Amino acid sequence: MARIVMKFGGTSMAGTERIRRVANLVRAQAANGNEVAVVVSAMAGETDRLVNFCREANPLYDPAEYDVVVSSGEQVTSGLLALTLQAMGCKARSWLGWQLPVKTFSAHANARVGEIYAERLVESMQGGEIAVIPGFQGLSEEDRITTMGRGGSDTSAVAIAAAVEADRCDIYTDVDGVYTTDPRIVARARKLKYVTFEEMLELASVGAKVLQTRSVSLAMKRNVRLQVLSSFVGEGAPAADTLPGTMIVSEAEMDEIMEKENMERQTVTGIAHDKNEARVVLTRVPDRPGAVAEIFTPLGEAGINVDMIIQNVGRDKGETDVTFTVPKAELARAQALLEDRKDKIGFNRIITDAKVAKISVVGMGMKSHTGVAALMFKALADRGINVQAISTSEIKVSVLIDEDETELAVRVLHTAYGLDSDDAPVEVQGEVKA
Ligand code: ADP
Ligand code: ASP
Ligand code: MG
Repeated sequence: MARIVMKFGGTSMAGTERIRRVANLVRAQAANGNEVAVVVSAMAGETDRLVNFCREANPLYDPAEYDVVVSSGEQVTSGLLALTLQAMGCKARSWLGWQLPVKTFSAHANARVGEIYAERLVESMQGGEIAVIPGFQGLSEEDRITTMGRGGSDTSAVAIAAAVEADRCDIYTDVDGVYTTDPRIVARARKLKYVTFEEMLELASVGAKVLQTRSVSLAMKRNVRLQVLSSFVGEGAPAADTLPGTMIVSEAEMDEIMEKENMERQTVTGIAHDKNEARVVLTRVPDRPGAVAEIFTPLGEAGINVDMIIQNVGRDKGETDVTFTVPKAELARAQALLEDRKDKIGFNRIITDAKVAKISVVGMGMKSHTGVAALMFKALADRGINVQAISTSEIKVSVLIDEDETELAVRVLHTAYGLDSDDAPVEVQGEVKA
């Protein structure tokens, strides 16, 4: 017997038929004698629909009321799954975020998960009742509903798994694991049987949305065994406890696995893309100490996250151009803020471009291998793709390019790093995603 948390994403929960498939998977785990808690997302597209309602009602919406609206999608699916399980003769009940409660802190719409009071939940699971928990939602310090940022149900699931000390947290989605890149873009993407927490963290933070970044850091911190696998499986599919998906493992575990299977680590593990950033260029900024602080301090104070930064070589007259990226959703705010401080900062013009994409290659092997970035620049240059900005970390290189070239760049790099698989193209479920 094991204690398992199963999380189902939006595509898996989209409609009565799919919820019935999910219920069958849950019932099978419970029938094997396991204690089961299920965390669910809203039906695919529902959260976007709710976000739009908020924008229509009030473009400057209050994030606390936004949370009341957008958290409702998960309330619906948790109730529906409990009802479906009951119809199959299982004991099941829903536990809303405030009922556990799932305590969260800091900003509405992007709350961080804190303490979870799981005693009653554990008791109920021990009594053979399947617990169904809406993901994404929690309770603020002021007892108001919060949500944990888009894709937050993954983090809810990991947090629940940590709180109930689950043996495993299985993230069921519409692909059967973590791939070398988004299989919706590269059909020859290769499934990874294992990926390390560090690499997954980096991949998620640069756009591989198969897991929310915070879910990976939380699993790493709280030692949660995390698997990504498909909910779209037929009758004879291998059971989840045979680990048919991708396991997220520690560096030490990965070394052991590689040694046992006599395999070598690839230099590059995966490639991700992100279309959610925008580029800002400030021209003719005075080339003097303190100038960049004048630019980035107010942005930081306004909670605007700056990602890539380049300061061009100073011009003759003691001036320089500064280029950086901010989230697309924050572009208008960033621009207004900088225009307000134009005289103080002393720049000449502000140029913005929201039609950009960030492409990143990630791999632990970069720590010990040179030439990874050079190969990236060469492969892109050979296809005429222009690089507008660059940033690096110990295990990642990112470039900013024209958004229209995203798919081409990902494919070219996937081939250049030798990641293409010889197997049949990957099958992906559901609609094309934004
Ligand atoms: P869910 O609704 O189940 O949470 P998401 O849409 O959030 O699902 O995440 C799954 C999607 O992540 C896949 O359908 C796939 O298109 C995308 N994805 C991006 N990068 C990767 C990757 N490296 N491996 C697998 N899937 C990826
Ligand atoms: N429903 C939320 C979203 O679409 C949370 C999630 O699915 O993880 O962002
Ligand atoms: Mg998701």
